Amino acid sequence: MARYSVFALARNALSHHQDWQRAWASPEPKAEYDVIVIGGGGHGLATAYYLAKNHGVRKVAVLEKGWLGGGNTGRNTTIIRSNYLRDPSAKIYELARGLYETLSQEFNFNIMFSPRGVLMLAQTEHEKRAYERTAHANRAQGIETEMVDPARCAEIVPILNIDGPRYPVLGGLWQARAGTARHDAVAWGYARGASEMGVDIIQNCEVTGIDRDADGVTGVRTTRGAIRTKKLCIVVAGHSGVLAEMAGFRLPVESVALQALVSEPIKPVIDCVVMANTVHGYLSQSDKGELVIGGGADGFNNYTQRGSFQHVEETVRALVETFPVISRLRMLRQWGGIVDMTGDRSPIIGPTPVPGIWINCGWGTGGFKAIPGSGWATASMLANGADPIAGPFGMERFREGRMIDESVAAAVAH
Ligand SMILES: Cc1cc2nc3c(=O)[nH]c(=O)nc-3n(C[C@H](O)[C@H](O)[C@H](O)COP(=O)(O)OP(=O)(O)OC[C@H]3O[C@@H](n4cnc5c(N)ncnc54)[C@H](O)[C@@H]3O)c2cc1C
Repeated sequence: MARYSVFALARNALSHHQDWQRAWASPEPKAEYDVIVIGGGGHGLATAYYLAKNHGVRKVAVLEKGWLGGGNTGRNTTIIRSNYLRDPSAKIYELARGLYETLSQEFNFNIMFSPRGVLMLAQTEHEKRAYERTAHANRAQGIETEMVDPARCAEIVPILNIDGPRYPVLGGLWQARAGTARHDAVAWGYARGASEMGVDIIQNCEVTGIDRDADGVTGVRTTRGAIRTKKLCIVVAGHSGVLAEMAGFRLPVESVALQALVSEPIKPVIDCVVMANTVHGYLSQSDKGELVIGGGADGFNNYTQRGSFQHVEETVRALVETFPVISRLRMLRQWGGIVDMTGDRSPIIGPTPVPGIWINCGWGTGGFKAIPGSGWATASMLANGADPIAGPFGMERFREGRMIDESVAAAVAH
């Protein structure tokens, strides 16, 4: 794969940028693979990348029914943080955050990681106590977060309305090394890296059936023909239940649409991410100047990828009381993604009841931040049969009552 550099840019200028090599190959599906990953979102692509890079497993295919990153990976509000409560979460989210710091250099592809800091506002006494608890837990886990008082919140975010018409700001949980990245570039970077190591990235290839015999999985049926494999990893976020049904087992997940919107571009007004859980809204500002605003999840199960006026109104109302300065902004576009929610708001990574089929799902409203860590751990699990970071996230925890409760960390969609 040709390297991107200032010299490559100059060289390609001579041919009017007509001869750039494609970022990843688009081969025809082969008859058989050692591992098939279903889902060309960030988690599926990262799994394939680390399978090849860390474990030398290269006869791998990623099957994507649409285009890379066309699912939630290209629809999220790009927040990256690791200030979760429980130890298993701390390990996987902090591994991911750390890997994000050097991904652009590793890929030779700019994912625009911006460690601009994330401030989670505490607007009730209860919320303040919950964040104080998280800050203590993070200290024990070696994750740098701190509780800050209202004056420091105002210093970090000058446009914040500290007094609030309904809920005053009582403090905040601040993670200075958290931030954002360009979401579709993360998918493209992993695809480019995986393709370079021999992984087949196959778009427009929908899995329509899963074949199995008495010993386990034998292959998949797709819109581009049948493909054999003895190792299958389902990584399809909101469609996990659909794929599980094809394979013949049930999952403890629900699918709902989660929405987001962006405003018209304006001059820089905010240089970090702010999340206001009590009123339910969060925002950051993109490099183009648009305010990137996270909305809520629909209150009923569905598979729509659309926005709705009800959520625009609720979210904008919450943000206008938190940041009155934005009250006259016009909104440019809104959209939705189908998120897969578990009861304890933690993901499922592990084997399934069907031998040879593994699953990575349940990231719900907050899996973008986890992509590098999740791919790293899932690849290790597939290559070695188990992984210490993925281990606690097996779905048997729901039967055993061993929840990894992250409802405070995920109280606002992000
Ligand atoms: C509006 C919104 C805002 C969000 N904000 C944040 C945030 O700020 N921070 C954060 O950390 N997380 C956020 N998230 C969550 C995050 O986007 C997801 O957890 C993450 O992107 C999931 O990645 P994935 O690779 O598992 O799934 P996806 O990116 O959805 O990829 C799954 C892929 O599987 C494909 N697929 C489905 N069925 C089949 C089939 N039968 N055959 C082949 N392919 C199939 C789909 O086309 C899709 O491309 C947000 C989500 C949304 C919707």
